[in-house]
Amino acid sequence: MRRTQVRIALLALPALVGSVLMATAPAGAEPTAGSGRSQLEDPAQVRLVHIQMAGADMLDKVVAAGFDLEHGLKRVPNGIEGEAVVTAEQIAELEAMGVEILGDDEGFAWSNEADGGIQARRAQAVQLLSHEETVRIVRADWFTTKGQGFLYVEARTTAGQQTNPIVTMQLENDSGADTSFGFARTMSRFVDSGQYMFHRNLFKLDARPSQIRVTSSTGGVATGYVSNWLEDGAPPLTANPAYKWDFVDGYRTPQQLYSRAEEIARQYPDIAEIVYLPNKTNGYQRKAQATIGGTGQSAVVVSSAAWGHEGGNDITVEFVNRPEANLPLTVEVAGKAVRVLLAKDASGALASTAAQVATALRTQSQGLIDRAHPYRTNAGTGIVAATSGPVALTDFLNEKRAGAPEGEVPRGPATIPVLRIGKHRDGRNPGVLIQAQDHAREWVPATTSLESAERLVHNYKSDWETKKIVDNTDVFFILSNNPDGANYSFYNFASQRRNMTNHCADDNADPARRNSWGVDLNRNYRVGSGHDGYSGGSTSCVSDTYQGPEKLSEPESKNIIWLVEKYRNIKFMMSVHSNGGQLFWQPGAYIADGRITTPRPPLGDEAFYWQSAARILSQVKAHRQTVVTPENVGGSSDVLYSSAGNVREDLYHNYGIYAFGWEVGGSIYNPATGNWQGGSFQPAWVGNPELVSGHAETMEYANGIMEMFRVAADWGQDNKKPTSKLVPGGGKYSGPVDVRFETSEPATIYYTTDGSRPTLESPRYAATEFREPGQVFHVTETTTFKWFSVDSAGNIEQNYDPTNNDTRNNYRTATITVAK
Ligand SMILES: [Zn+2]
Repeated sequence: MRRTQVRIALLALPALVGSVLMATAPAGAEPTAGSGRSQLEDPAQVRLVHIQMAGADMLDKVVAAGFDLEHGLKRVPNGIEGEAVVTAEQIAELEAMGVEILGDDEGFAWSNEADGGIQARRAQAVQLLSHEETVRIVRADWFTTKGQGFLYVEARTTAGQQTNPIVTMQLENDSGADTSFGFARTMSRFVDSGQYMFHRNLFKLDARPSQIRVTSSTGGVATGYVSNWLEDGAPPLTANPAYKWDFVDGYRTPQQLYSRAEEIARQYPDIAEIVYLPNKTNGYQRKAQATIGGTGQSAVVVSSAAWGHEGGNDITVEFVNRPEANLPLTVEVAGKAVRVLLAKDASGALASTAAQVATALRTQSQGLIDRAHPYRTNAGTGIVAATSGPVALTDFLNEKRAGAPEGEVPRGPATIPVLRIGKHRDGRNPGVLIQAQDHAREWVPATTSLESAERLVHNYKSDWETKKIVDNTDVFFILSNNPDGANYSFYNFASQRRNMTNHCADDNADPARRNSWGVDLNRNYRVGSGHDGYSGGSTSCVSDTYQGPEKLSEPESKNIIWLVEKYRNIKFMMSVHSNGGQLFWQPGAYIADGRITTPRPPLGDEAFYWQSAARILSQVKAHRQTVVTPENVGGSSDVLYSSAGNVREDLYHNYGIYAFGWEVGGSIYNPATGNWQGGSFQPAWVGNPELVSGHAETMEYANGIMEMFRVAADWGQDNKKPTSKLVPGGGKYSGPVDVRFETSEPATIYYTTDGSRPTLESPRYAATEFREPGQVFHVTETTTFKWFSVDSAGNIEQNYDPTNNDTRNNYRTATITVAK
């Protein structure tokens, strides 16, 4: 019997485990209980500040404390830079945690590096590595933007987790083909949740190197060729002079977005229709409230039974001090006027506590008040003071913020329309779901999506490339998936992120908390959920990443699941967010203890994601040279942080949908300062057209969405079978040999080495480690590989049927014969 030994030289990928260890996040970010005196109490003023954290551990603590750091995060050599929407008190709290407050517009400056050399040469990134190396080059990417060249390098050392001493890595580059290495500089070690990830840096260079060399302090060396990141050139769509674009001329409220979607469906009935989502939102509405009777232990928080716009706002509550002594506590109601006649003691002093008044209001207000309680965590033991007159309850929604758009906002639950565009809307074509504005304050994703829809319908008759998209895809646009929160962002509180559902118990239900209620819709899904111990969702109802009381608690997230279950042809999804300049896929969440991620996509899907991302981002770049850098592309928990229960994980793992997440805007290179500049949630619409501008971001990212449609159309038309090979191939070798698989296109390989027939249950050819190419097998004895490959569209190499044990057995086979 011939014995086969295949040794895989490199470390196995982390496995998903079922155990759940993560503790729930504390509520945190609690301002101290302040005045509860009046219903006019202002919520804490908030502002956007740039911050720097020492590393992932500090980031985890800050997020766990309830701070919202969803956007604008980027790795810098000394830690992680980000943006936080905070009050002055929260700034002090951040500083106490060791966070550095950078102020506004103070981006990190990449150091200028030496001139790289002469001729650029296009080359495939090939790793000249063997299993004995202690260093591997993960990526070596070259790009230019606005006249400046950049080299981005990721490299791993197998001693990366070692801390005593920490292994350092030096990067050198040549000056073009056949020149020597030089310009040594130290790389930055990237550690996340206690795990060494890799070393990485973005360096300015004036000319493209051909190769790089990375040397570790423990003696490992690797060299590799430099690849180009993103194509340069004109977009295929706007290359047609007749192509029409630039339709959206300003930010759009949900009402404006939805009425335009319905109008498009009426104007273009042959290619467009509306699908109404079945679950209405919980509504742009709130109960009418006031905090009355004093502060602290003496305060009573009062909430109307009816919504504010359905009568709650008409209610008044008065605490009355009668002149006599020895009087009981009682409540009088006349119409919508509630009078609490406070108790008096024998000496004629007021004698009702806040707890007693709250109970009296709940039980004696003839149904007008159904929620009344002491303030925050107080027991309500203080004596309540009389008011100077009736206090009007309010839902605060009439208080418009400065600069709010004209028009009244419809109150109550909203129905979300989906604008469906496609010539054949019968399931034959691949569906693409574009979902914008899960997060209310992100205004550019909505205009980007609307611009893309306009381009499809206006160019269908006149532009061949657009016609191909509309004829071969089935696009579903949700222009705003959070209309209640978006209205609140437009009309009341610009920094609103979540929806408007108040899940808080009494300790957080007073009206001063009103800007802190709501569920983060992109934490409310089922895979990699915070409810199962994954990191990045909060259990606190006043955290900006509140995950909700249970998975899919919110109508907005239920709707997405309804849509993808009803329209099973949906195979692509883009969850559009702002701002940051990032493009994500899976894995997007991990359990912090051990950094256990959701399952990684197989190598074929990973390659397809990268290929699609490069196409999409090349089209973004074509507009005004904006580059989303490779350090910001990939599994979101690999390059940024864990976001538990996000929509992408659910759609990919439960429905096999290629589910991207996009942070549009921000991170654009400013040649005047030499820095990368961050954006904002609501940049000036015109702004600086070369830098931060809502209009420019809308146009460039709409280019990317159009390319995503082309990716989907190509995928739907793809009936070409992949091919694959072992490198080097079968044959006789004088000693042990290192082999790996190569495929003609993004494809997943299933293989055996024990002589059995390969099936879909066979081992999958995997990456060496995440973000790296396929593993290398160190073959020391004669071995026969049997395998087949499957591309992203499901085509199988040589038409092999792995499910059916047919007699053709037309899988691939190669024998590596190793001489003894
Ligand atoms: Zn977002």
